[in-house]
Amino acid sequence: MLVLEAKLEGTNEQYGRLDEAIRTARFVRNSCVRYWMDNRDIGRYELSAYCAVLAKEFEWANKLNSMARQASAERAWSAISRFYDNCKKKVPGKKGYPKFKKEQTHGSVEYKTTGWKLSSDRRYITFSDGFEAGTFKMWGTRDLHFYQIKQFKRVRVVRRADGYYAQFCIDQERLEKREPTLKTIGIDVGLKHFYTDSDGQTVPNPRHLRKSEKSLRRLQRRLSKTEKGSKNRAKFRNRLARIHLKVSRQRKDFAVKTARCVVQSNDLVAYEDLKVRNMVRNRHLAKSISDAAWTQFREWVEYFGKVFGVVTVAVPPHYTSQNCSNCGKVVKKTLSRSTHTCPHCGHIQDRDHNAARNILEKALRTVGHTGTRASCRDLPLSW
Ligand SMILES: [Zn+2]
Repeated sequence: MLVLEAKLEGTNEQYGRLDEAIRTARFVRNSCVRYWMDNRDIGRYELSAYCAVLAKEFEWANKLNSMARQASAERAWSAISRFYDNCKKKVPGKKGYPKFKKEQTHGSVEYKTTGWKLSSDRRYITFSDGFEAGTFKMWGTRDLHFYQIKQFKRVRVVRRADGYYAQFCIDQERLEKREPTLKTIGIDVGLKHFYTDSDGQTVPNPRHLRKSEKSLRRLQRRLSKTEKGSKNRAKFRNRLARIHLKVSRQRKDFAVKTARCVVQSNDLVAYEDLKVRNMVRNRHLAKSISDAAWTQFREWVEYFGKVFGVVTVAVPPHYTSQNCSNCGKVVKKTLSRSTHTCPHCGHIQDRDHNAARNILEKALRTVGHTGTRASCRDLPLSW
């Protein structure tokens, strides 16, 4: 089990509803302790059953998700069993007789698998039990992307002096059990498609990026026509900044999703070791936007590669598009040629598909060398 935390951002009314849920969890726990004090021969199963009695008796207890009620009863039981243990072990001094929890700044409520839902981009969480706290935006969710939704076993809402947090309990063991897919893949990035792989499959460029790119261009033009230091200019600058922010968020989501997908379905992922600085400096907006998307995608591929135990290889970009993936001979072509036609062996293939196959082949050669006679210098820089 692994615990990850994110800060919750919502309205004051929503926070108030979380407070109610936290207060109710405390009520259930304390009621269970009381019940045990009055019936000292009961065990955890009786406490668990008592939750249903509480829900029937008290309207607010019924509002709390049933599994969250159970979790509160379990907390009461763990305090009770700790006390029993101390008695059995004859611990000197106080035995830790279970106490009632008081209202404090710190408080929490724990949900198991129901009563809450993560959004697929893992940036929002929605609480759907009777308190109807609704959807919260989360801060600090980067690490959540490592795990599949079904690995999120529990969430505990924690109230602290500076706000509300969601603590996720993640079942991590499944990660290590990833079955080899016996598949390897080479990918080539381009302007026409986001990438083309060595099997000839393509991933289209994200349409929203192209859309945002259009409005960026329009705004930039209008900004340049405004007077320096004018109110109008400040307004356009602000709008431009917002769109940039939107673009960067969209780009991140796209990069994460695409990277996770390609890493999970392959045992080795190969791509070109492109120099980022050269790419971003490019004057063409369309190019620079897709380059930025590509850079981020690559970072996530390498990140997920480590998490899932998948080999990622960045190969030197020399001749990957010029060589023939069938016979290996150099076939010079200009950037505008979209088809590879080999005069030596007659091989005809989409330019990017041909490049992707070369990239994979190069990577497999590099990987093969690591075990035999290659020195560290043979390894790609980003290994
Ligand atoms: Zn050829």
